[in-house]
Amino acid sequence: MDAPASAVGLVTLPRIRRVPRTEPIKAVRGMRDILPWDRAIWRLVEKGAADVAARFGYAEIVTPVIEPAELIERVGEDTDAVAKELYRFDDRGGRHLALRPEATAGIVRAYFEGHLNQEPQPARLYLMGPMFRYNRPQKGRYRQFFQYDVEAIGSDSPALDAEVIEVAATWLRELGLRRLRLELNSIGDAKCRPAYLELLKAYYRPLKDQLHGDCQRRLETNPLLLLDCKVPQDQPFKAKAPRITDHLCEECAAAWAAVRRLLDAAGIEYRLDPYLVRGLDYYTRTVFELFPSNGAGAQDALGGGGRYDGLAQAEGWPPTPGVGFASGLDRVVELVQAAGTEVSAAPAAEVVVLGDTGLEVVVAEVARICRSARSVAVDYEAKSLKAKMKSANKLGARWVVLITAGEAERRIAQLKEMASGEQVEVAWADLPAHLA
Ligand code: AMP
Repeated sequence: MDAPASAVGLVTLPRIRRVPRTEPIKAVRGMRDILPWDRAIWRLVEKGAADVAARFGYAEIVTPVIEPAELIERVGEDTDAVAKELYRFDDRGGRHLALRPEATAGIVRAYFEGHLNQEPQPARLYLMGPMFRYNRPQKGRYRQFFQYDVEAIGSDSPALDAEVIEVAATWLRELGLRRLRLELNSIGDAKCRPAYLELLKAYYRPLKDQLHGDCQRRLETNPLLLLDCKVPQDQPFKAKAPRITDHLCEECAAAWAAVRRLLDAAGIEYRLDPYLVRGLDYYTRTVFELFPSNGAGAQDALGGGGRYDGLAQAEGWPPTPGVGFASGLDRVVELVQAAGTEVSAAPAAEVVVLGDTGLEVVVAEVARICRSARSVAVDYEAKSLKAKMKSANKLGARWVVLITAGEAERRIAQLKEMASGEQVEVAWADLPAHLA
């Protein structure tokens, strides 16, 4: 028996269900708007970052937020986390793409594609922009967040390790965040790390059964990460584990000493943290992280960085050393706000021009005249002059320019200073001089 037409329709022809929209459309989960009154403090933080970078000779670079997925996947910090957290998609041309979760991989790519490697070395670069990670949103952790990234590419001098730390510390100090904790370690390089990893494995193997599952696995695949483990059951074993800084080759030991000497000379305090590590081979020597001094855990990190002498090669470019740091602007802004820094959100308009409904052409013309002296907004709303005065006051306008039809014909206006309440009659042409 034939199925009824409607049933066939349901099965074979999926219909687009048009659900009547009752809910207003909201932002994507984990993404947020930065509203005008918060932008003032963001601007302060960003301006500080740009100023400090410039003072140290770092030039701004902007790279796309979309990168080939392979660029990120090949160099991703911890393959599992990257796979889970990466915003990955294919475009209409079938390209495998990703929204960048961090900036360094793209900056190193741009350094070669833009031939910065042919300029005087190192290339000192900084970038500010949004990063994307599909992680569980919570306070201080967003799916779109902003980073300040500082990179020195093309030199293996330990002086640059100290320099990028000094850039970060100077920026945060000048923002009033004086109580910082800098944690520092060296993780050696391809010459000395393999032998150290053997020592580490030999130490942990007899303890394997007492470690939790992930760490049991890491013991053979990525033993350095055992030191980074935060699971309580594994903590007692760390203290006696061999420390990599006791097993550095001559070159790494010299660089390690140089970085600390330079930080001492710069008056930057640090704490040696033998458990601060990175999970990928291309990271070398210096690693560091910055916390507010009262911060409790990784969640509070204001930024981190280190040397990545093997990264360029991992991307398929010629071997080239580099060092840098990335800091989370969202968190820095929150701390600057919490520290009580007040930035007056500059009013959008210092002058509000208003007149009766029907005078739009005239008020727009007067606004144009005033704009040569001050920022000006026009109130075009169909409401009483009294209501317009009230909202100009709420906006924080310093002056109001009042236009009436009669006065407009004579090209004069009333200029009222809000604070004093003083009002004077001014010819339109003289308004800029009065407002200057
Ligand atoms: P990472 O690249 O993971 O070392 O992160 C560098 C800094 O970026 C961290 O110290 C945080 O300040 C910030 N950060 C990382 N992930 C997020 C996130 N999901 N939301 C806000 N800030 C973040």
